[in-house]
Parts: sequence; C-alpha cells; structure tokens
Amino acid sequence: MRIDLHTHSVASDGTDTPAALVRAAAAAGLDVVAITDHDTASGWGEAEEAAQSVGIELVRGMEISTRHEGVGVHLLAYLPDPGHPALDEALSKILAGRNSRVPAMLERLRGLGVAIEASDVRRVAPGTAATGRPHVADALVDLGVVADRTEAFRRFLNPGRPAYVDRYAASLLETMDVVAQAGGVCVIAHPWGRHGPHEPDEATLAELTEAGLAGIEVDHQDHDAHDRERLRAIAGNLGLLVTGSSDYHGTGKRDHDLGCNTTAPEQYARLLDLASAAAQRSGRAVPGVVRP
Ligand SMILES: [Zn+2]
Ligand SMILES: [Zn+2]
Repeated sequence: MRIDLHTHSVASDGTDTPAALVRAAAAAGLDVVAITDHDTASGWGEAEEAAQSVGIELVRGMEISTRHEGVGVHLLAYLPDPGHPALDEALSKILAGRNSRVPAMLERLRGLGVAIEASDVRRVAPGTAATGRPHVADALVDLGVVADRTEAFRRFLNPGRPAYVDRYAASLLETMDVVAQAGGVCVIAHPWGRHGPHEPDEATLAELTEAGLAGIEVDHQDHDAHDRERLRAIAGNLGLLVTGSSDYHGTGKRDHDLGCNTTAPEQYARLLDLASAAAQRSGRAVPGVVRP
C-alpha cells in the first residue's frame, strides 16, 4: 500500500487542478493521497469527485502557515471540519495577510521613490493566485531598478530593509487548538525543512506533543538521511506518528514527484484512529476519508 500524505494543487501553489492531481496520484500507483493546499479547503470538492471516479483513497487536509517562537512552522491538518467557524476565521486571516502584503510593500517602495504599481507585479507573475516577495523582486528587475532578484532582496525586500513588510502569521499553538476544535489531526510538515539547525528541537516538539501534536513528517525531500534518522528517533521518544510524503506541486517544484516519499500503512492507520477520536471529541461533522 503506497500512501502520500502531502500534495498541492492550483488551489494553492501547485500546478495541477485538484482533479488532475488525484488522477496523477492514481497513475503514479498510489493507493492513498492527501490533498493539502496552503490555508484552504477549496480544492476538496473537485478532488473528491476525481477520487471516486479513479478509485483512489483520498484524505482531505490542508497545510496551515503558522509561527512558533519566531520560527515559521507549516502545520498539516488532516480531516478537520472546514466549516468550523474558528478554523474558517483563522484561514481567512492568513489569506488576507498574504494578499495585503504585496500592496504594503509597493507602498513602501513608492515612498522610496520607486515608481512601481500592482500591474508591474502582475505582469511578471501571470496566473499566480497569490503574489509574494519574489514577484515584487522580479518586477523591480523588469523595471530596471535592480539587476537581479538577489539585489532586490538585499536592497529592499529582506527583513530589516526598507520595503520589507512582515507577514501576518498565526500562532502554532492557537492553530493546533482550532484544528482540534474542528475535529482534525495535526502533523508538522517538514519540521527541519527550511529553518536549518534543527528547530524545532526535541524539547520544543515535546511541548507541542503535550499540546496535542499527533505527528511529524519525517520523510520529506528537505530532510537528508541523517535528519530523518534523528527525527524518527525523536518521534519514537515522544510517541509521535511518522509520516512521509512528496509535497508535490506539479511542475511548480522539482524533485517532489508523487510518491517519492510515502507513509507506512501502520502509521496511516494510527492517523485515522486519531482522526476519529478527534472528530468524536469535537462533535463536528468532519469529512471522512473518501474510499474507492
Ligand atoms: Zn510546507
Ligand atoms: Zn507543502
């Protein structure tokens, strides 16, 4: 049984429609796939229909952008009720924060005497649902203000530089609480993916486990063999479940092919047990797994 618990569609920053993603998962020989777009459940309906038609098991989830002790943490929430008011509100705040960041940066740039408009950013980012700093950097290159992205970040867009605008980030602990209220299960995505020297460390993960964390994504392309071994040991010590997944983005991210990492069937079974316990505690009508 091949199980991939973390993938993206065009509902966030992937390049496949939800239906195409599910069909690609079936074609890749997966038995179970989770759709986990950033901060949204908007791809779930289409993915469900496709899963029923191609006969693959579908887990509905989302990857929520949070922050803990100054470090960005991506939280995978599996099978929550997306209509829960607190969850809906948390997701809306994150999306609003993302959408207001670029206008705020452009405002700062204009204050610095750079003639840049939203249309300049759109021109270099056709078809993107949510523009961000890289697109602003590309627009600055396009306008001839800087030579390349690196210079754009160094002069204007990095933290501490004059056009930098901090992004709203939800608190990890509050978000975990909201996901639990909505009957979902929390797993930290690529815990040592981008933030280098091993933050969150074991002590932090122990605190998070106390706060209701169910698991960590150990097998991920951002983790080398050594980190995977250490994370697996930490999961063992703390009783966390271990997942593995591709973090597939279609053609939006190289080296993240569907099924390149997978979750062991017994870990998946544990996840589903925890999900039904969470659902029961919450009293919410959560989405079940879509079974072929
Ligand atoms: Zn992520
Ligand atoms: Zn992801």
